[in-house]
Amino acid sequence: MRRRVILLGPPGSGKGTIAARLKTEFGFEHFSTGHLLRQEVAKDSAVGRQVGLFLERGELVPDELVLALVESTLAKSRPEQGYLSDGFPRTLVQASAFDAWSGTRGLAIEQVIYCESSEELVLSRITGRRSCVACGHVYHATFVPPKTVGRCDECGGGLAQRADDSEALVRRRFQVYLRETEPLVAYYRAQGNLTVVDASQSLEKIMARIEVMLRQ
Ligand code: AMP
Repeated sequence: MRRRVILLGPPGSGKGTIAARLKTEFGFEHFSTGHLLRQEVAKDSAVGRQVGLFLERGELVPDELVLALVESTLAKSRPEQGYLSDGFPRTLVQASAFDAWSGTRGLAIEQVIYCESSEELVLSRITGRRSCVACGHVYHATFVPPKTVGRCDECGGGLAQRADDSEALVRRRFQVYLRETEPLVAYYRAQGNLTVVDASQSLEKIMARIEVMLRQ
């Protein structure tokens, strides 16, 4: 099974939910740069305060900071476990820097899954989204509810709506996505490892397709 996988797509296109399923069903090593960055903010460190200013505005955090965070996270993990990235890379600079870094360590990306989604679909989904404040696991009030209302199935932590999931900020983040991240679709397509999934389909359908593709 391919185990070095990138999930690409706009905010709210279902990347976090797909990542959670792949983690539970196949033991993928999942990391989300958004979650790692929110943890920095919660620590209220000097870096966290700097990062918080970008998150509040729905802007991307500078490439160097994100690359350092990803490299230190992956350096701590076991290479044979692979990785499943949700939310990274988000710019061409990040993508090419990661290709160079991972290529020299035998960690090159094997598969990119692009969750294609319209702005309206993203908006309708994101308003119901709730995340665990402790472990970052993602739920949806209607589509993926937790077993106990307001509690994370995985760790028992509290569930909350993210501060940047307001309609105005989601629209802003979608614009940032179109400008900075969508060019990665062509970048990875040219490398020959991109698969497109239609994010408007049911989660079961999407998961079935992804499983077949990762086992190829
Ligand atoms: P997410 O949880 O993936 O929606 O990310 C939340 C926020 O974290 C984004 O709106 C950005 O401000 C920041 N962020 C997450 N991943 C990245 C990245 N790869 N590059 C730059 N900023 C990021």
